[in-house]
Amino acid sequence: MRFVANFKTNHTRASTAEYIKTLSPILEEIGCKNTLIFPPATALQEGNSTIKVGAQNAYFTTNGAFTGELGLEQLDEFNIKTILIGHSERREILGESQEFIAKKFEFFANEGFEIIYCIGEPLEIREQGDEALFEYLFAQFEGIDTNYSKLTVAYEPIWAIGTGVSATIDDIKLVHNKLKEKLNLPLLYGGSVKVANIADIAQIDSVDGVLVGSASLDANEFAKLIKEGLGA
Ligand code: PEP
Repeated sequence: MRFVANFKTNHTRASTAEYIKTLSPILEEIGCKNTLIFPPATALQEGNSTIKVGAQNAYFTTNGAFTGELGLEQLDEFNIKTILIGHSERREILGESQEFIAKKFEFFANEGFEIIYCIGEPLEIREQGDEALFEYLFAQFEGIDTNYSKLTVAYEPIWAIGTGVSATIDDIKLVHNKLKEKLNLPLLYGGSVKVANIADIAQIDSVDGVLVGSASLDANEFAKLIKEGLGA
């Protein structure tokens, strides 16, 4: 099981350092070595033997005239080699198109980054039935090299993100089993994962890990979630 935390626009540089200081010894104690956190850009820092640090976003450039963006040069300074691409908040709020996302993917894949690539559908699509659901989800792989060796896909139904209402076990199985059938990739589930539901989600065969927003923000709560997920 892989545990991935997305802080979004939460935490500062100081509080992220504090967070790592709190979480690391707990992970060390339970022998959990594959936790990944995505802090905001100002809090990027090198990880350690238990926690890897990735970038929530960057532009497909080494450097240049892209006001407000980070490029490879800025990530390199912190030895960041992992990036989150395609998150629904960037698609929906920041207006990233599939074409733009595919360019970002290609650039960072060429640079050898580990990529956590998010897909997910809004409620109105889910309500149209399975055919519409899969058509929508697979369109989010347009321009994406699904054979890239350092790719992990995160399925995050938009209606389950930040709502407190996770997808049901059957909802998750339906999508993850289909994804596993078509793509030979590690899969994360994301959307209101918390201490109360992680044990059930973790025992689904086609779930290789979880991407956690709200319930990852407190280091001790995230540690509890990880322990529950591992049955530790
Ligand atoms: C997310 O946005 O990646 C997410 C999973 O958020 P939450 O856990 O808060 O639903």
